[in-house]
Amino acid sequence: MIEVPDFRWRQALITAIAPVTARVKSFRLRTEIADAYRPGQHVDVRLTAEDGYRAQRSYSIASAPDGSGTIELMIEGLEGGEVSGFFHEIAEVGDAIELRGPIGGAFSWGPADGGPLLLVGGGSGVVPLLAMLRHRGAVAPEIPALLLYSARTRGDAIALDEIEARAGTEPGLSLIFTATRSGGRRIDAATVAEALTTLGHPTRVFICGATPFVGTAATLLVEAGVAPGLIRTERFGG
Ligand SMILES: Cc1cc2nc3c(=O)[nH]c(=O)nc-3n(C[C@H](O)[C@H](O)[C@H](O)COP(=O)(O)OP(=O)(O)OC[C@H]3O[C@@H](n4cnc5c(N)ncnc54)[C@H](O)[C@@H]3O)c2cc1C
Repeated sequence: MIEVPDFRWRQALITAIAPVTARVKSFRLRTEIADAYRPGQHVDVRLTAEDGYRAQRSYSIASAPDGSGTIELMIEGLEGGEVSGFFHEIAEVGDAIELRGPIGGAFSWGPADGGPLLLVGGGSGVVPLLAMLRHRGAVAPEIPALLLYSARTRGDAIALDEIEARAGTEPGLSLIFTATRSGGRRIDAATVAEALTTLGHPTRVFICGATPFVGTAATLLVEAGVAPGLIRTERFGG
């Protein structure tokens, strides 16, 4: 069955704001779509100024469907960023924003899709992969999974404590973390080989991050023998 995306704009209420890293904040939003999405999907957010000027951006859902009636977004504040700047500097608990979705059925995972599941994230590109890990941990922790995660520094890494705790307690979940600016290396052929040796041959691969990161990771995986047809990518821009 082909799922048709719901493109209606809906009001969503900000119910909580919390820091995640020095550059990233978490926003809890109360919305009707809270339990009607697949981990990996994103929403579009639309802001309208008093003079009618509109700006629209996409944000991945970080939370797994949890019956709370809310979703979590994790937004990195970019220098001069129109929409991320609004979220970081102006948005407050109790504000209403417009969103639509969920969007992006191809870049989503559920337990019926199985594994081994290989997730490759760069920077804030880990957000939709975090939703998949949270869902897997809640409903199918036995499915083998590995997250290959690259961030500038440990302090810049989103939810690293949570992911490390999951990798320590959930059977079959492995983490390879590289901090590119503190002596670690970028994702390269050796890191990809280590991931494939640890996980075994993946049947699902999701790569997300800035456009150059996604291109590099996809090329390395194909060169390491992963069939291109298994690989799904999401590019955040940048
Ligand atoms: C499917 C999808 C899901 C996304 N999910 C997330 C998410 O979960 N969290 C998140 O923080 N962002 C996410 N993004 C990126 C987000 O949509 C915006 O592009 C980002 O917030 C910048 O918007 P802005 O209005 O703040 O900046 P703009 O005003 O559009 O741009 C400001 C400056 O930042 C540069 N820039 C724009 N986007 C990026 C980027 N992604 N990285 C680095 N520099 C950039 C621009 O070239 C410009 O110089 C996602 C994008 C897509 C397509």
